[in-house]
Amino acid sequence: MRFVSTRGEAPSIGFEEVLLSGPAPDGGLYVPETWPHWSAAQFSNLAGRPYAEIAGAVLASFIDDPFWADVTAGAARDVYRRFRHADVAPLVAMGANGYLLELFHGPTFAFKDFALQLLAPLMDEALKRRGDTALVLAATSGDTGAAAIHALAGRSKIKVVVLHPKGRISDIQRRQMTTVTAANIRNIAIEGTFDDAQALVKSLFADREFAARHKLAAINSINWVRIAAQAAYYISTCLRLEMKPVTFAVPTGNFGDVFAGFVAKKMGAPVKRLIVATNQNDILARAIETGVYARGPVHATLSPAMDIQVASNFERLIFEAHGRDAAQTRRLMGEFASTGSLTLAPAACAFVGGIFSAVSVSEADTLATMARIFKSTGRVVDPHTAVAIQAAEQSAPTGDTVVMLATAHPAKFPDAVEKAIGQRPELPPELRSILTARERCVTLPNDAAALKTFIAAA
Ligand SMILES: *Cc1c(COP(=O)(O)O)cnc(C)c1O
Repeated sequence: MRFVSTRGEAPSIGFEEVLLSGPAPDGGLYVPETWPHWSAAQFSNLAGRPYAEIAGAVLASFIDDPFWADVTAGAARDVYRRFRHADVAPLVAMGANGYLLELFHGPTFAFKDFALQLLAPLMDEALKRRGDTALVLAATSGDTGAAAIHALAGRSKIKVVVLHPKGRISDIQRRQMTTVTAANIRNIAIEGTFDDAQALVKSLFADREFAARHKLAAINSINWVRIAAQAAYYISTCLRLEMKPVTFAVPTGNFGDVFAGFVAKKMGAPVKRLIVATNQNDILARAIETGVYARGPVHATLSPAMDIQVASNFERLIFEAHGRDAAQTRRLMGEFASTGSLTLAPAACAFVGGIFSAVSVSEADTLATMARIFKSTGRVVDPHTAVAIQAAEQSAPTGDTVVMLATAHPAKFPDAVEKAIGQRPELPPELRSILTARERCVTLPNDAAALKTFIAAA
């Protein structure tokens, strides 16, 4: 399988390259040249099989090279075995036709572990094969940094530098990163906001000479392998529900997770509809309803992993919705870059509306949902999950089987939980122990030169 850029002006690349790459050189995102499509027999052969085997099979559909298919299947067995639940992604009944898909049983208690745990050993292997090393540089508003640090700690070919905005992430989120003492991990608290940290990272990547000299690498959610890894839990869910049509409600920020649901549908899984659940940062909800994708101000909310104004992965859907027309995608993305807004062609808008619905959930409704679920079921859900539950309630057609993605463990967001239900969530032992563990972190000013000096010495 080759991968092509959504903007059509970069050469196609293979699995090993796509594993190590961020955006394509033409600014686009890599997508598979053609979509694999599974037969009914391919699905039924996997029914009842362990999660790791399903994930290995999903990934293998995007790999021609038998070496990489083998390495990936082995890595899947190895990493998903270490999740805290035997089902890896357990499905819990909620209401008559509803289910919660619990995606928080990985090492850092958020769904980003599904992709990053798998990506880390694959990147390490690719670098070993090339006799090369990399320095993963990332800015985080919470969950991504922790998932990346836990996945990459102790890897021989990779150093990791993660920036977080000083004092602006939860204690638990910070400690999940700063208590990892592996020699290849560096934490930096930036004196500024998340946007400042993100801008610093972007400016270092944009300095091509510096980026090449220090072998900077990214692990953000535009990496194709992350999307493919996430498609696996949509497929495992459809298998578990005996291939009945399923509507999924997905808490959405960068559009990576819900796009993985689209990938599962393209592969032949019975995904009926995808509900894009956003908080009050509603750029995606507006785009899906009106066809106009326009930047707005970012609001800080109870579900910070979705406080995003530009959803990078949406470009992949724009490409698909316009019949994979790279020239048109390039034109639209150019328009978005220069004006902050783009308008989908009418046919593309109809294509999107045929598969996706979107709901923007207010802060008040997020809290009310958490309280209502606690009262009626005794279950504590995190604010991101609550956004999905409320969106499903508002927009899933009655009678549909609905699966709501639970993307984080409530213990990661104790303040929001307390605000909603009047008590703090119980901390799992793994999170309790980091409260007293020693932290390692340096503080740096919001300044590219200072960051460069630090990285040069790392
Ligand atoms: C990252 C994240 C999301 C958003 O996922 P995207 O792939 O960016 O749309 C939702 N919930 C939680 C808890 C997250 O960490």
